[in-house]
Amino acid sequence: MDASKRALLMHKLADLIERDIHYLAVLQTMEGGKIFPASYGEIIFSVNCLRYLAGWADKIHGQTIPADGPYFTYTRKEPVGVVGQIIPWNAPVLMAVWKLAPAFATGCTVVLKPAEDTPINALYIAALCKEAGFPAGVVNVVPGYGPTAGAAIASHPDISKVAFTGSVAVGKSIMAAAAQSNLKKVSLELGGKSPLIILPDADIDEAVQIAHDALFINQGQVCCSGTRTFVHESIYDEFVKKAKAKAEARKVGDPLADGVVHGPQINEKMMNKVLDYIKAGKEQGARVECGGERIGTTGYFIQPTVFSNVTDNMKIAREEIFGPVQSIIKFKTLEEAIERANNTTYGLASGIVTKDINNALIYANALEAGNVWINCYNVFSPQTPFGGYKQSGIGRELGEETLHEYLEVKTVYVKLPSKS
Ligand code: NAD
Repeated sequence: MDASKRALLMHKLADLIERDIHYLAVLQTMEGGKIFPASYGEIIFSVNCLRYLAGWADKIHGQTIPADGPYFTYTRKEPVGVVGQIIPWNAPVLMAVWKLAPAFATGCTVVLKPAEDTPINALYIAALCKEAGFPAGVVNVVPGYGPTAGAAIASHPDISKVAFTGSVAVGKSIMAAAAQSNLKKVSLELGGKSPLIILPDADIDEAVQIAHDALFINQGQVCCSGTRTFVHESIYDEFVKKAKAKAEARKVGDPLADGVVHGPQINEKMMNKVLDYIKAGKEQGARVECGGERIGTTGYFIQPTVFSNVTDNMKIAREEIFGPVQSIIKFKTLEEAIERANNTTYGLASGIVTKDINNALIYANALEAGNVWINCYNVFSPQTPFGGYKQSGIGRELGEETLHEYLEVKTVYVKLPSKS
């Protein structure tokens, strides 16, 4: 198929998702517990990502290269072939689109496995692909469990590349299976323990708000959440007081209800995992400023929780909790904060709040993380790459960068009678 035709199909799919946005947003909220406005916003963003990557489809090309010798030399960018894609439950529509769109733009076909908790969103998108007119066999959505359906993708000899978003442990097993089967290409978006540093010159109310949103959005179930809030000692006590007030004011409840900003955790297992971390935080001497308990016994709701007096070696400061648990940590100097911020096996995201541009840029250069947000957090756009350093992943999604994950480069030499 011509690349321009692929772009048209992608635009058509974007139009159909937009047409059904209310339905899809409700579906996503009912299936995963994300509050409705967030579901809606995420689907708008998904549409924008599809349209952005549709724009790339007919602009992917090789080069003619003045190689040594009597040769006409050029490169071709070719699709890697069949791509396996394994996605998580925390943003089912967005994660599907981040994976599908670059595959379509580059001309790959796809076998996509949604997460166990959220298969319906992906199936609905598959139905829209069919309606848009994608040829049979291009998009295959195969729901199933990780160790069976997911593992089959990772080790399949006819799959040329696997793209995965989820936990580090599973990411490692996918890479091992890829290596042991056919050395398929691998791209991974894994977890994080992202630092957000608040310098003493920050506007404290703004900083509290940024740190609050950085952590509590989607009940803390975001890979790039700002889970280590480093606050300068001179403003620490005031910051903690305000952070606590903000967390206590969160309206928790039915994610479809008006005014609710905080829904349930995805499932019982994840809820219990988060509660175990809260227990560990208490046992290791962090102070619970608010929250710390499950709410009721219906659904998997956890109180928005703020810990103060958190130190770097505590479990809650080292491991990914994936829940509504803010850990506020004290620091003295920026240099020390940078060193401590980097002292993690993760490297997905990071942020700083300050009015000092020099300090902000020193921080941006020094952080070992794929994303740095200055005076903001969790900002994404289709045009910019997203991904992790260290054990937060391999490769990038979105932006022009995502295309490279789905392309092979072929170099062609043609012998000429003479150099010129
Ligand atoms: P997970 O890694 O277990 O699951 C993610 C996806 O991988 C799902 O589709 C799952 O079915 C599949 N999977 C599981 N085992 C597999 C296997 N052996 N082979 C192939 N595929 C397999 O993640 P989870 O249990 O849903 O969430 C647990 C943790 O994952 C969280 O605490 C968080 O650290 C991380 N997570 C990260 C993101 C992210 O956006 N980076 C999203 C969700 C979860």
